[in-house]
Amino acid sequence: MQFNTRLIHGRTSSGYAQREILPPISQVSAFRYDSMEELEKVFQHKSMGFAYTRIGNPTLAAFEQRVSELEGGAGAVCTSSGMSAIAAALLAVCQSGDEIIAGRGLYGGTIDLFRDLEKLGIHVVFAEQMTGEGIGKLINEKTRVVFGELISNPALSIMDVPSVSTTAHAAGIPVFVDSTTATPYLANPLKLGADVVIHSTSKYINGGGNAIGGMIVDGGKFKWDFEKHKALSEFSKYRKMAFSVRLRTDVWENFGGCMAPLNAFLSYTGMDTLGLRMERICRNAETLAMALSGHSEVGVNYPKLPGHPFKRYVDSELSGFGGGILTFRAGSRERAFRIINSLKYAVIASNIGDLRTLVIHPASTLYIHSSQEEKEAAGVYEDTVRVSVGIEDGRDLVEDFLQAIRES
Ligand SMILES: *Cc1c(COP(=O)(O)O)cnc(C)c1O
Repeated sequence: MQFNTRLIHGRTSSGYAQREILPPISQVSAFRYDSMEELEKVFQHKSMGFAYTRIGNPTLAAFEQRVSELEGGAGAVCTSSGMSAIAAALLAVCQSGDEIIAGRGLYGGTIDLFRDLEKLGIHVVFAEQMTGEGIGKLINEKTRVVFGELISNPALSIMDVPSVSTTAHAAGIPVFVDSTTATPYLANPLKLGADVVIHSTSKYINGGGNAIGGMIVDGGKFKWDFEKHKALSEFSKYRKMAFSVRLRTDVWENFGGCMAPLNAFLSYTGMDTLGLRMERICRNAETLAMALSGHSEVGVNYPKLPGHPFKRYVDSELSGFGGGILTFRAGSRERAFRIINSLKYAVIASNIGDLRTLVIHPASTLYIHSSQEEKEAAGVYEDTVRVSVGIEDGRDLVEDFLQAIRES
């Protein structure tokens, strides 16, 4: 099956109790049993069943299976938000004294999370280049995981997943990829060599901007060394599935970051059109990037543009697509504000991946807590405008941005 067929007719498209064509919304806190013996068996994992929504729920399970299938994973856990997914995934493999190697120019929330991890004794070192060579020189006996964004938001640098994975694996270290901006439509990081994929489903997977959520997909192939990964040692009997079991029955369950059943349903149904939306969004983004780069005054950052430093990865990792986000530099903060305010269609909002075109000035919003150095690493300057391109008619978008730039 090709992507769109698998999306619509994959494993989660059938098998519901009353033959529903969509997973029913099990909007409950708990599940009732006819005898205490039956419930005991569920708690002992001796029979399949749900007990309490923080620990498992059929609507969440349907959404988890659907994303896992599209990513080629062995299992998945959905979470209350993308941030909760990143936090849970990293806390499942790291404990105090351990080190994480991370890419530069990550999502602002992730950089803020790293400050919290530092307070727990988990140290983060940043790689200048997310390539095998770039991370290779940072690996030491404390390194437990390499974490990066496939297409970083908003720097739009692309991680070299195959070479990072080869180098990391040679040192017994797994690679976790935040693939929110790429989506399974553009790439499957597990197939490129990564071990765990993370999504903020709030963005493209949901697509309609109506539910916050996150997802962690385990490839189930990494050979854990339980001497090195002490955080997982209690789960050594699960071998290659040790991460999944530790995540689900420990970190996710105990920190309490479950997704609400209604959000799982909204994200599941939103996902029906993921392929269609991504195709249109990427085409619109490319058209808009070309039109703006023809405009000499604004410097445009879009990975598919000729001469872009990461263009070669567009073909090798992203199936030839440049993604749905572009940034441009307006010349000054004041002009950036004027351009944003003069746009007719782009909605001023702090989000990406919506089917509506969204626009924001990152320096005064998303990166308000970041240092100058962190902002520059993320490609966020005083005059940077970020555009998350939507599914409108591309001609209207081009006309709108060109008029806003002209008038400002
Ligand atoms: C939005 C985003 C997150 C955080 O997700 P939330 O659902 O907002 O918690 C993480 N990584 C990337 C790349 C994002 O764009």
